[in-house]
Amino acid sequence: MNLPSRPVDQRFEGSDRERARLTALLESLPTAAALFQRDGYVVTANARGRALFVVDEHAPLSAQHYKVVLQQFGAPALDAMRQALNGQPVDLGLMPFGRDGRIAELQLSVFDHDLLLVSAADVTQREAERARAARAELELRAILDLTPSSVRVVDVSGRIQQTNDNAAREHESRQPLTVRELWELDAPHDVANQRPLSFLDTPAMRALSGQTVRRQILEVRRLGGRRVLESFASPMHGDDGRITGVLLLDRDVTDRERLEQLLREQEGASSTRPTAAQNEQELERLVEERSRALIALQEEQVRERRLSAVGQLAAGVMHDVNNALNPIMAAAYLLRHHAESPEAVRDYADRIRKAAEIGAATASRVGRFIRQEPVHPGGDVEVDLSHLAEEVLDLTEPMRLQRSSESREVRIVRMFSDRAITRGLPGEIREALLNLVQNAIDAMPDGGTLTVRTAVDGGDACLAVRDTGVGMSAEVRERAFEPFFTTKGAKGSGLGLAEVYGIARRHRGTATISSVIGRGTEVVVRFPLLAVSLPVAVVEEVPDTLPRRILVVEDHDDGREFLRRILQGDGHDVVAVASCAEAREALASLQHAPFDLMLTDVGLPDGNGWELVKQAKAEYPAIRVGVITGWEPSVGPEEADGAEFVLRKPLRAPELKAHIAGKHTPAQTIE
Ligand code: ADP
Ligand code: MG
Repeated sequence: MNLPSRPVDQRFEGSDRERARLTALLESLPTAAALFQRDGYVVTANARGRALFVVDEHAPLSAQHYKVVLQQFGAPALDAMRQALNGQPVDLGLMPFGRDGRIAELQLSVFDHDLLLVSAADVTQREAERARAARAELELRAILDLTPSSVRVVDVSGRIQQTNDNAAREHESRQPLTVRELWELDAPHDVANQRPLSFLDTPAMRALSGQTVRRQILEVRRLGGRRVLESFASPMHGDDGRITGVLLLDRDVTDRERLEQLLREQEGASSTRPTAAQNEQELERLVEERSRALIALQEEQVRERRLSAVGQLAAGVMHDVNNALNPIMAAAYLLRHHAESPEAVRDYADRIRKAAEIGAATASRVGRFIRQEPVHPGGDVEVDLSHLAEEVLDLTEPMRLQRSSESREVRIVRMFSDRAITRGLPGEIREALLNLVQNAIDAMPDGGTLTVRTAVDGGDACLAVRDTGVGMSAEVRERAFEPFFTTKGAKGSGLGLAEVYGIARRHRGTATISSVIGRGTEVVVRFPLLAVSLPVAVVEEVPDTLPRRILVVEDHDDGREFLRRILQGDGHDVVAVASCAEAREALASLQHAPFDLMLTDVGLPDGNGWELVKQAKAEYPAIRVGVITGWEPSVGPEEADGAEFVLRKPLRAPELKAHIAGKHTPAQTIE
């Protein structure tokens, strides 16, 4: 700090009484105020001043210099102060002060010839309000400029204070400054009575006299000719209720009026001619009615499209599921009657299993479709396409027989190569082939020849299905792979070929269609060829060596019971429960003879199977866990939360047994 070193009491040239008088005077000011001598020392300050100006707490006020007192306000204030002390005129306005963006209005004035009064009012709030108001005005202005109407604000004396863009464009030669000038330029006619409008009857003057003008149709003179305006005006009131001005709004309705005029003329003018207002209402009603009808129509179309997609999906699923159930029901019936022949039992059991797998494939296809999920992870095996084709032809035999008894015969030609082997998911390839065979049969309503061919071509193992049916037009061929594309109406799902395409792609293969309308169609699916030609990979029963202690958690009664029987049949010691709570109880109460394995469903009435897995693993680290899921997206081993294996419903017993034995590997090939 840079204080001159004179003694304190010498700095003020007046008496103590005078200083007291000055202090009292400053206290009566509504602002923060400080009084300086010409040499820059403070004489006195009022309480507000001491609070606002930063003052050195340790020195007496009168010993402080203007630099100390005003340092809050920064260099410009100090410069101004210096100039003022030197007797130069000063213009100080708004000054920022402090650190938090506050604003003060600073005033300097000479007092008693050689004293300088600095007064400061904190106007932060006021300035913020002002900025807000300015912004609001700008926004309002922008809104006004965007409205398609002309807007004017007029004061009580009839002077036009504000004009939006539209209004400003109306009179290109000269901008009217008052409502009278506007009236002179416009030369308005009252459309209602076809007479010139007197100045006092203009909307502006009527509003100035206190009326609100809701709608006055005027014809005015403009550069391009006469225009028809719809005019509105409303008085604006001050706080005391007195009129402070009016707001004028004009809408150009020339085109609409012309149209109405035309309509009226066409209808033939009659005594019952509707007024402009009635016409307008009628027009608005019509427009509204039409828009409503249009919206309803669009909504209906969207709904219909959605419904038909869902319906097609459902129809396709129903078709497939029924196809799968048919042989199951037949075989179950036959089983009862041939129960004494072990060969027949095995044969029917096999047929039931195969048919059920088709049903399961349908369910998983729908599931994948809904979840947009890729193939079941892992688990690909060697697939002999010929073997698979034979199976599918077997499976579809009942369907073909049924059809041929109707009116036609489908002859089957098999052309199989024993080297057409690839690596993949047999369930999927079987499904693709099934779709192709079904399509071929559908395409031959009057019978024909169905050729199923497997071959090796270059590096590909090929699977081809050919029919001598109706063939496809170029347009159908182009769209045939699209999901939901069908020409079979409610009978088709449109998913068959889409699925074929997807399966081919997932196996890093291709699917192509060649077709001649009226002659027939061939669809060829190519898979990467597997060089080895070993017997086909089928997961065969793996004998379990050790009997285990197994806890089954499944709330579905039949499911639980079957699982128990299968496991007990293999000599395991099984406890089967239906809820998480029971499972926890079983795990805890039998701690002395611990379970080797827990098999749990995911959706349980009192919780989630995955939770149960976590708990069981935490408390009994030695336990192995298998999760059986019907619906959840498949889970990779790393996400399986500590479960040793995850199985999908429907359960396949050999797969389950392989897992229990701990022998399951993705490719269970017999070598
Ligand atoms: P969907 O069989 O449910 O209609 P697809 O995806 O299997 O669905 O087939 C789509 C469309 O392709 C069929 O509706 C049909 O028009 C045509 N299409 C498929 N396969 C054949 C074929 N072998 N012969 C003639 N047209 C076929
Ligand atoms: Mg199909």
